[in-house]
Amino acid sequence: MTVTDSPQNAPDALPAANALQTPRGTVCASCGTMFGPKRSWQRFCSGPCRRDFHRLHGTVSGAHRRIEALEAEIKSLQAAVRGLVSAIARGPK
Ligand SMILES: [Zn+2]
Repeated sequence: MTVTDSPQNAPDALPAANALQTPRGTVCASCGTMFGPKRSWQRFCSGPCRRDFHRLHGTVSGAHRRIEALEAEIKSLQAAVRGLVSAIARGPK
């Protein structure tokens, strides 16, 4: 990336949100509808869209936590399998 004098590089520019901003308006981060935001930082076309987005986001976070728990379980099972494999490799006493 090269530094240009585009408005996005202004010191007070907000970090990029999920909403896609175009010259004709902002694309709602929830439903994808093009709308004219009343505030430059507005990411959603309506309150219900904002609620839907945050509900979905919460679900995704919950899924991530479950995946992390399952990954930890897989690691412990892999360690148990390695222990069994090495026990088998040593053979019966
Ligand atoms: Zn929307």
